[in-house]
This record gives sequence, C-alpha cells and structure tokens, in this order.
Amino acid sequence: MQSAKRIEQEARAKAGNVSDEELALIRKAEETHRLSEAELTQLLGSDAAEEALAAAADRVRHRYVGDGVHLRGLIEFSSICRQNCMYCGLRRDNKKAERYRLDADTIVELARKAKGYGYPTVVLQSGEDLFFDTDRLCAVIRRIKAFDLAITLSIGERSREEYAAFREAGADRYLLRIETTDEPLYERMDPGMSWSNRDRCLRDLRELGYEVGTGTLVGLPGQTIPMIARDILYYQKMDADMIGVGPFIPNPDTPIGGEPGGDFHLTRRLVSLLRLLLPEANIPATTAMETMVAMGREIVLSSGANVVMPNVTEGDYRRKYALYPGKICVADTPADCRHCMGGRIAAMGRFVAEDKGFRHHRGAAERNIEEGARA
Ligand code: SF4
Repeated sequence: MQSAKRIEQEARAKAGNVSDEELALIRKAEETHRLSEAELTQLLGSDAAEEALAAAADRVRHRYVGDGVHLRGLIEFSSICRQNCMYCGLRRDNKKAERYRLDADTIVELARKAKGYGYPTVVLQSGEDLFFDTDRLCAVIRRIKAFDLAITLSIGERSREEYAAFREAGADRYLLRIETTDEPLYERMDPGMSWSNRDRCLRDLRELGYEVGTGTLVGLPGQTIPMIARDILYYQKMDADMIGVGPFIPNPDTPIGGEPGGDFHLTRRLVSLLRLLLPEANIPATTAMETMVAMGREIVLSSGANVVMPNVTEGDYRRKYALYPGKICVADTPADCRHCMGGRIAAMGRFVAEDKGFRHHRGAAERNIEEGARA
C-alpha cells in the first residue's frame, strides 16, 4: 500500500506539466459539464492533469452538493452468489470462499444498530442469492423501514417484477454497477451474463422510481481508456443518481487473479471527471481506493466524492465477504468505523450530513442564476 503523502507528491510533481489545452478542457468541463469522448480520453490519460482535475471537481462538488459527507451503513448479508464474474472472490466456482447468509432477524438488528450509529441510510448488499426471494426480502425491507431509514439494495440482477415488489415494500435506491459499458469486455468478464440484460435492469430500476447507482471497475484486463470515457457518457445519458468506481484488485482465487490491478491515479481522475460531468450525483469514496493507498478515501473525497459507506456488518462476516484481498477495516467494529470516519471527515473541514442524502436536484433556473453570476 502506498502512502497518501507519496501519492500527493507524485501528483504535484506531474502537475507542473499540465498543458494549456488540458487546462482549457478542465475549465470547459467545470463550466458546461460537457466533454466529448475524445476530450474525456485525453484527460483520463493525463497524469499531469490530475491535480487540476481534482481541484475543479472539488469546487463543483462544493457548489452542487455542498460540504456534507453522507454515510451509508453497509450490511453485507449474504456471500452466496449464483454468478461467476471473473474478477470477484464471491464467484460461485471459488471453492475457497467462506459462504454465509444472515437470517432476517440479524439483518434487521444490524439496521437498527446502524440507525443508532447515526446512519440515515442502510445499503443491503449480497451476492446474487436467490434464497432472498421477493417475499423474504420484502419482509426485511418493511421491518427496516419502520426505523425511518432510507434503504439501498445492491443484490444484482432480478426481474422487473421483483424490482417493482422491492420498491413497493419501501426500497429507495438500487446499486448495480455496469462495471464496463463495453459489451464484449463485459461478456468476457461476466460469463453467462449479458450486457443487454444489465442495461435492461438499470432502465427498469429508473422507470420504477428508484434512485439508481452504477459504476465502473477500473483496470479490467482488456479495458482501454476510451472505454472508460464511454462509461462516463453512458452515466451522463442515463442521468445516474450515484456512481461508484473502484480499481480492480486481483483476487488470487479467481481466473484473472494473476493480472495487474487497476491504477489508483486513473480511478481518481475518473472520480473527478464524473463530478465534473454529473455535478449533482452522489459519488462514494470507495473502500477499494483505501485498500490501495492509505487515506485513499480522503484523497477521493477531495477529488469530487461526497459519500462513504462504512461497514456495519459485524464480526467475522466482514472478512468472509471477500470480493478482493487486503480489504481494510475487517477487524474493526461498526462503532469503531463510525467514530473513525466522523473524525476523519471533520479533520478535512467537512461534516457528516444528517439527512438521508437523496440526490440533490437543482432546478435549471437556480443553475442559470449561478452561471449568470459567474459570467
Ligand atoms: S460481482 Fe456480484 S454477481 Fe459477480 S460473482 Fe461477485 S457477487 Fe456475484
């Protein structure tokens, strides 16, 4: 793991080489929130542009979503998965994965505790575990809604009817990373799954009134920078409410465990460009970023992000939910995480937001007034 100081020193040293052309592109992105695929590709590929991109994204973050950091309590309730994604430690063919499934009472109790820690939202995340059918999961959702918590589901691909039932029971948001918008790459990385069904799921979720989150896995074997540029344009076109991105961290118990991992700097530039092009979106500083670099979440929060998802799963289940190796904080308790993140956010001059953190939709009139004032 690299230190935050070293990362900053490297980025600052390269920042001296940023070209006037790139600075003009960053200004354009900050003012218009529009860039072409070629322009995005240029900035994503530029080490020299990284600091200027982060600074512009931080200004846009402050202007559009403010200084509050939204904490979402993450409950990893089942590590059982029917899918076989090439990059994931929970893939069904990984016989070394330690599987578990929490019962309904335990999940509800973790949500009650999350409320006690002051988290206004819980994220219910699992592998694609069909044991949690509509009846079982809707019952859990209804019980958790009694605590006045917002609920985000992150349980993979389901039918439109199931998504509708979860929404009807009270689920507010849904996270489904597309991982890559490049169809051949997606289908190589997710054998047995189809890109068109992934896209269908996202459209169904949008039509059913969820706040929809998606995102990219950076550094998949065969992924190119123009592909990532097209991911950004896809998120902009679908008007994503949340976008979570992280570097690919090879898991030795998977078929691509020997491949090089994703790049921290490229992922950071992606976060900044996402903030510039989707200024109202909720963008998490993901745990994977901190797995690569100490204090990685602070760096990402200063580069456009405004959400952190502390883990509220307890005990050994944290370790067993092993998407990738080296995951941080597996030995901490949920109370440790709450205390730690609160202190770190305050040390940055930001604050922990107390509201449920729904996407902040600013009217066109409000934007025009502000843009007029800046002209
Ligand atoms: S990425 Fe999700 S769907 Fe794919 S194997 Fe892992 S848990 Fe299952």
